[in-house]
Amino acid sequence: MTDTAVSTWQENAGRDLVRSFGDRMAMFVRGEGSHLWDADDRRYLDFLAGIAVDSLGHAHPVFVEAIASQAATLAHVSNYFATPPQLALAARLKRLAGTGESGRVYFGNSGAEANEAAFKLARLHGQKTGKSRIIALTDAFHGRTMGTLALTGKPWMQEPFLPMVPGVSFIDSTVAALEAAVDDSVAALVLEPIKGEAGVLPLPDGFLEAARAVTERHGALLIIDEIQTGAGRTGEWFAFQHAGITPDAITVAKGIGGGFPIGALITFGAASELFYPGTHGSTFGGNALGTAVAGAVLAEIERAGLVGNAAARGAQLRTAIEAIGSPLVDGCRGQGLLIGVALSHPVAKDVVAAAQQRGLVINAPNDATIRLVPALTIGDAEIEEFLELFTAALAAVEQSLEPAASTPVSEIPV
Ligand SMILES: *Cc1c(COP(=O)(O)O)cnc(C)c1O
Repeated sequence: MTDTAVSTWQENAGRDLVRSFGDRMAMFVRGEGSHLWDADDRRYLDFLAGIAVDSLGHAHPVFVEAIASQAATLAHVSNYFATPPQLALAARLKRLAGTGESGRVYFGNSGAEANEAAFKLARLHGQKTGKSRIIALTDAFHGRTMGTLALTGKPWMQEPFLPMVPGVSFIDSTVAALEAAVDDSVAALVLEPIKGEAGVLPLPDGFLEAARAVTERHGALLIIDEIQTGAGRTGEWFAFQHAGITPDAITVAKGIGGGFPIGALITFGAASELFYPGTHGSTFGGNALGTAVAGAVLAEIERAGLVGNAAARGAQLRTAIEAIGSPLVDGCRGQGLLIGVALSHPVAKDVVAAAQQRGLVINAPNDATIRLVPALTIGDAEIEEFLELFTAALAAVEQSLEPAASTPVSEIPV
């Protein structure tokens, strides 16, 4: 393809798409497994997987077949009616989350919609018990709609859209802050078990256990946002399962649909009885097509043992990345195949660009972190290819750092 054709898609994107996103970094036209091809037929290794969405990689036969066969059978009838794939997915999610009999599932079309439902659940619990406050964590991300933005502890994201939905306060992710903040006036505590968008920041050891204990003591709901961590990514079906606790609700989206837009709120125990007819709804949420695809994706994750693969490949990747020995790499955070590579200099955007030039798609959630969230299907071949490309990208950025001009992360004023 000629340069004119390349500039055409960039011009079209610049003219026709809403400017809430920055410039698109490439235009992809097809994918297969962990690979993508751009408009010039250049091949890329995809270690972003649509931000932890494409659990099975691209164009997986199970995904393709589920869409085709359900579209040819029944796609959508509205929530006045039930469909077999919807009921099957609700039962599967209850089983995987370990809700037991008393669990219930609400379906939406995105992570934000799942968290909106969770916000309403917190309000319903608050009305019933005379509590009004919701506690969330500084730096956590819960979505871009007005309700979920109010839960998202990032002032710069909220500022252009003030006033926020009231009632939410933010605390630092320490057990001390948690125990000081949660009292009898709190309706719910909402948290991300690993803060993905903030840079793959894990919670301190014992935090989830303490969160469960303190919310139980004060009759507050514990709501865990598993939108990025769920569907097997961290090496358990859901990240809260590493801590052996039972929350009152979790939200899921991203990897559940393997590329099909779907989200869900899953409730446990008494929290399952809070919604009553007329309190919430969605036209598309839980339709036969979406739930058939998510059901097939989760069934394939189970069949192929991809939760265990996420744990094993994640450990393998972290060890190998540290063994590169690059002075730019300060270590790895995260669990399973949700990995944050900590950089010693604030050059994450340069590393992403150098990787893309070499045919590797990765992402920088902040200036000093590279986020790796590949498909759960990756094996030795993908890891080997990744290491070669990532090592070269790191080396290129290292070379471009003038020793005198570079500022280590530890010396940047905050
Ligand atoms: C991506 C994400 C969301 C928002 O999901 P959308 O589908 O973009 O609305 C919410 N919470 C977490 C933890 C996420 O990673």
